[in-house]
Formats: sequence, structure tokens, C-alpha cells
Amino acid sequence: MINPEKAASWVEAGSAEYDGIARDIWEHPEVAFHEERSSAIYEERLASKGFSVTEFPEMKHSFMAERGSGGPVIAYMGEYDALPGMSQVCGPVKQPASEGSPGHACGHNLLGAGSLVAAEALAHFLEAEGIPGRVRYYGCPAEESLGRIPMVKAGRFNDADAIMTWHGADVNTPHRYTSSANVSLVFSFKGRASHAGMAPQAGRSALDAAQLFNISLEFMREHLSPGILLHYVISDGGQRPNIVPENAATFLYVRAPVADMIPEVMKRIMKAAKGATLMTETSFSFDIKAGKCDYRPNYVIQDLLHEVMGTVPLPEPTREETTFAKALQATVGRDDRKATLAPIGAPLDLLKSPIHRTLGDFGEGKRIGGSLDTGDVSYVVPVGQMNAATWPLGVGAHTWQSCAASGSTWAFKAMRWAGTCLAVAGYELATRSELITAAKKEFKANAIPYRSTMDL
Ligand SMILES: [Zn+2]
Repeated sequence: MINPEKAASWVEAGSAEYDGIARDIWEHPEVAFHEERSSAIYEERLASKGFSVTEFPEMKHSFMAERGSGGPVIAYMGEYDALPGMSQVCGPVKQPASEGSPGHACGHNLLGAGSLVAAEALAHFLEAEGIPGRVRYYGCPAEESLGRIPMVKAGRFNDADAIMTWHGADVNTPHRYTSSANVSLVFSFKGRASHAGMAPQAGRSALDAAQLFNISLEFMREHLSPGILLHYVISDGGQRPNIVPENAATFLYVRAPVADMIPEVMKRIMKAAKGATLMTETSFSFDIKAGKCDYRPNYVIQDLLHEVMGTVPLPEPTREETTFAKALQATVGRDDRKATLAPIGAPLDLLKSPIHRTLGDFGEGKRIGGSLDTGDVSYVVPVGQMNAATWPLGVGAHTWQSCAASGSTWAFKAMRWAGTCLAVAGYELATRSELITAAKKEFKANAIPYRSTMDL
């Protein structure tokens, strides 16, 4: 095994640059499909470090960077999109840096930079020791929206031997749990406008159709397989009460434990939409916005990550970093703090500390309600993931607290730790061919043909 301390000190030597990139992207958040600046930072950086960069036409701001030759292809995935309206300063009180602007409340400023650490460190050690292998960094935009599905469909990941990634969280653990598959779509109903007071009989209300459709979803819930979730908003409810609405729309998310449950549910949902239009003499169309497969962890890689995470020394917080973590943790309601740990089966007494300072191993056999675009990648290549405690215990993703924490020096340390773990795991994969053989064997044994949930 590569000496983990040696890897950590190599990364430490570059800490000012890595932290600088994570901070820069945190300070200049760009939402999905607009990550022009963030992707350019990674492309330029990787090119300057001897990686050859290829941009992909199927998705704006997506790219691949590769260095090395021969041997297996060990790949890392980096993300860099922010969330709309989540702007927040790096402080313990809710305060936008710029009102209404985006913010890195999912810590993707850390995710991209941590995977950069991994790719650069692994490329360095393979080269320095004359070990064959190609190290790849996939720049994956728009995770919070469409995700890397077009890249998966274009076959961009197919020739990688193993792919790894990580995510900021409140605990250090291999990502053994699965995530939900989903599809999101807008149902648009079309009716006929008329004066609601003078000539209601001449109108046909698209809003009536949308409401009947939504009610049918409510009744349908009881008769769906366990684990299927439906959530929706009325994204268009008409203009004014005195105009019979000509247009109305429901924006719907369907989630299921596994991707192949989605088409069956969608058939029934289409019947419900059709029924609503029959009742109201309206019509409907639908527009698929996004869809993600469930994440299928490769246990050979997950076990390797766990082993490696136990050998790379965890970072030490300063007194100021601990104080900041305590202050942020205190802003999350006592019961709400459990929401991050319970779904992955992590012990709740961890919450006695502000920061997770040990290594956990959570989530075996569990599934989270959310969805990840890493899921689609896990259908075509063996994938392993880990979480690093970049945020105080009890702080969940997509909150102002996670946005504040993602800009802190503690988060940067945890990010470098994650990057180091991923690099050491990559080194093991490149040097112990039995690992890749075992990962592929497991992948083949459980393989399900890939079909995007967007392809109904
Ligand atoms: Zn995220």
C-alpha cells in the first residue's frame, strides 16, 4: 500500500492551492448549466498539471481530463454546481452573502476540489513510481438538476475500470447505502378560456384537470409498492379567478427504490392524467425534466475505501473550528439533528460532539429518499463512494448551515482528507489487479441493463 502518511503530506504541501480552489468556487457559486467559471478553473488547472482535457458536446461544462498511460483506468468524478437562492456567509447566523443569489449548500465546491486532490495525487504517485495506469477526472455539471445522465448515455464512463467519488456530509463513512431512483416531469393541461362569471359554460378549466390529476395521485399512493414516493407542486394554476384557466400544470417527482419500478408506476400516472382530461374535456402533454437511477454500490470498492479511510490520518480541528462547528450545530433543532444520521443507521449519540472525529461504517442495507446521478454511472461501471465530515454533526445538505460550513477552513481540511483517501484507494486499485478483477466480477454478477428513468 502507498504510505498513507506520505500521500497525506504530499497533499498537505499543496493545501493552499486546493483550499484556494474550493474557496474560490464557494465565493463564486454557479447554478446548474451555468458553471462556466467553475468548470474552466478545473480544466485549466488539470491541463497545467499534465492532464489532457476533452470537453463533451452532450452537456455544457462537462469534460474529462486524463493523465498517465497503460494499466487500468481509475476515474474520479467532480461536481461544481451551486443551489439557487441559498447564498450564505461563512458564519454561524443565517445571513445571505447576496440576497437571492445561489450558494454552495450541497458543498459541491468541496466535491470538485476533493476529487481534484485525488486525481492529482494518484497521477503523481503512479508516475513517480513508474506504475502503469490512467487517472481520469470527470467534470460533472448540473448535479442538482439534470445530472450526468447525457454523459452516461453517450458512453463516457464505459471504459473506466473503477470510478470513485465522495460527498461532504456530517460523518466519515463509506457510502454503503443506496439512493432512490426518480423521474421528474411537468404535466401541462390545456383547456378553454372564458369569462368565469359571464360565460362559465363556454370554458373548460385546465386547473380542474390538474386538481383532479393531483387527487388521483393521492388515492393512488395507497396502492403503490412500498417505497414509491410522489411529490408535486402546481407550477401553473391559471392567471385570475375570473378567467377560466386555459393552462395549468403539475410538476411531479416520482421516486422508487430501484429504477425498473418507475415505468410501471408511470403507466398508471399517465392513465390518471388521461382520466382527468376526460372528466374536464381538456387535454394534456408532459415534459420530462430529469431522471436518475438508484445508486448500486460496488462492495469491493466500498470495502477498499473503508480500509483506506482507516489508514489516512483524520484531520484535527483547531479550537476556532470546533467553536464554529458548535455554534452552527446549535442552530439546528435538537430533533432535526437526527435527520442526517437516522436514515443511514448512524448512532444518534454521535450528536454529543460538534464534529465527527472518528471513522464510521454506516448505511449497509439502507436506502436514502434522495437521488444521485452517480446512480446511473453505477449501472455501467463499478462505483464506490465515501462521505467525509465537512459539516458539523446534525447539519444536513441543502441548508444555510451546510452552505456556511462548506466555506470554512475545517471543510477544506476534511475535503483534503477525502481526496487523500480516494487517491490511496486508487493506488491500491492500480497496483493490486485482483481488486479490479473482483470489483468487475461483482459488477457482472449483479448487472442490470442500463436504462435511464427518463426513457419512459
Ligand atoms: Zn450534492
